[in-house]
Amino acid sequence: MSQLTHKVWMERALTEARLAPAHDDVPVGAVVVREGRVIAQGHNRREADRDPTAHAEMAAMRQAAAHLGSWRLEGCTLYVTLEPCTMCAGALVLARLPALVYAASDPKAGAVGSLYDLAREPRLNHRVDVTAGVLAEECGALLTTFFRARRAPSRASAGASREARAAVRLPPDPGGVA
Ligand code: ZN
Repeated sequence: MSQLTHKVWMERALTEARLAPAHDDVPVGAVVVREGRVIAQGHNRREADRDPTAHAEMAAMRQAAAHLGSWRLEGCTLYVTLEPCTMCAGALVLARLPALVYAASDPKAGAVGSLYDLAREPRLNHRVDVTAGVLAEECGALLTTFFRARRAPSRASAGASREARAAVRLPPDPGGVA
């Protein structure tokens, strides 16, 4: 498949990823494409569902399997905005997924080339065709922006909370300067 086609589908995965921060989840999105159309999509809902396995890829694969009526995802390509972790890479192999396209690499948890390469592990009974780096900058930037905003609450919101405190005459922050 051409790089241009890959980009079109990765845009769809990116659109999914952008839905996650609304429920405080890390923005990762995935779509499953078969015969030129999206048959399943998902985004990270770990916080929303309080579920350690609620990764974008798992949601998209479950939906694809339900759509096909089979756990075997024949003829499918999964597009995901971040390199899959060990769980998701394992699930790709279990689903006998023919092809995976991912955007940004994950040097801390990636299991499709970074820390491990489960999708192409010769000792397993299935190997996935992997394309990496499609829209990597855009998908990586979405993550960077999300983590930066989470680490540093904006001055505007700190100011707003001071105002709220003054309005209802709450005592000052215990740790704050009196
Ligand atoms: Zn995962």
